Amino acid sequence: GEELLTVTDLVKHFPIRDGLFQREQAAVRAVDGLSFSVRQGETLSLVGESGCGKTTTGRTLTRLEEPTAGKIVFEGRDITHMSNNAMRPLRRDMQMIFQDPYSSLNPRHTVGKIVGAPYRIQGIKTEHGTKKAVQDLLELVGLNPEHYNRYPHEFSGGQRQRIGIARTLALRPKLIVADEPVSALDVSIQAQVVNLLEDLQEEFNLTYVMIAHDLSVVRHVSDRVAVMYLGKIVEIGDRDDIYERPKHPYTVALLSAVPIPDTRRRTERERIRLVGDVPSPINPPSGCRFHTRCWKAQEICKTSEPQLVELAPGQQAACHFPENVEIASTPPVDEPV
Ligand code: SF4
Repeated sequence: GEELLTVTDLVKHFPIRDGLFQREQAAVRAVDGLSFSVRQGETLSLVGESGCGKTTTGRTLTRLEEPTAGKIVFEGRDITHMSNNAMRPLRRDMQMIFQDPYSSLNPRHTVGKIVGAPYRIQGIKTEHGTKKAVQDLLELVGLNPEHYNRYPHEFSGGQRQRIGIARTLALRPKLIVADEPVSALDVSIQAQVVNLLEDLQEEFNLTYVMIAHDLSVVRHVSDRVAVMYLGKIVEIGDRDDIYERPKHPYTVALLSAVPIPDTRRRTERERIRLVGDVPSPINPPSGCRFHTRCWKAQEICKTSEPQLVELAPGQQAACHFPENVEIASTPPVDEPV
């Protein structure tokens, strides 16, 4: 598909304001030079451990945060530094779904008021029209339209996420950034909400940027996957290439923690364990930011930062010593080679 959103060298730093420790240019370098694009109708997932900058990326590309540097182009328009006023009509096209549906729903407002809020804010429907539209939306996300006058606490977690999704859909967005949309839900409910998101994508030709740490969910929903580490993309490519033929050691390590149904492959992946925490984004390691945790690190990794290069068609990774393991074709361990 055509590119809906293109991000070039995106940077988002949060200056540290603590007077006692204030140093020249001290900042949390949450997003530190990202380039990627999202095609119309696809799902691009951003994955990585917490603290790698996924959420800040989502909030910055929808302009909930002001970018520090770089460029964001949405539907051919440069929105990087667009004013709030100029952004207003575009806000309809770019929506965000949050992790915790409860905290993003006003407990004192009825579902009708919550889901209808976008119409009232934009002033585009009569009260009667709003009620009808809200009831249609509730039905669309699998809720009872008769529950229009109920309050959020009267719904289960999964239903509350459906309310959040209904509100998001009110203005018929083109791009939805979903930040851990199911991770606060019971595992038994997660699949239902994921399926709903997929059905809605098909019905409305939605484009998703999915922020997630559950790699099984990511594998299920994504067309492409971008792996982030300390504010940078270390690998990006088609879902199957990333899962079957990861090139970056960090991707390999993340995937080795995922339970794989095919036990013949498990041995191959369980060899690798990520140790330690993500280093501070205030003072990221020199050279390759992953070198403090990488089992393949050499001297050059400490001094020279690897750039994203294409290592297979459509698959880029930033590593001096990329993996080439063809996990999919690894001979099964329990059968003679
Ligand atoms: Fe590991 Fe070096 Fe590759 Fe970084 S560049 S991921 S430290 S091998």
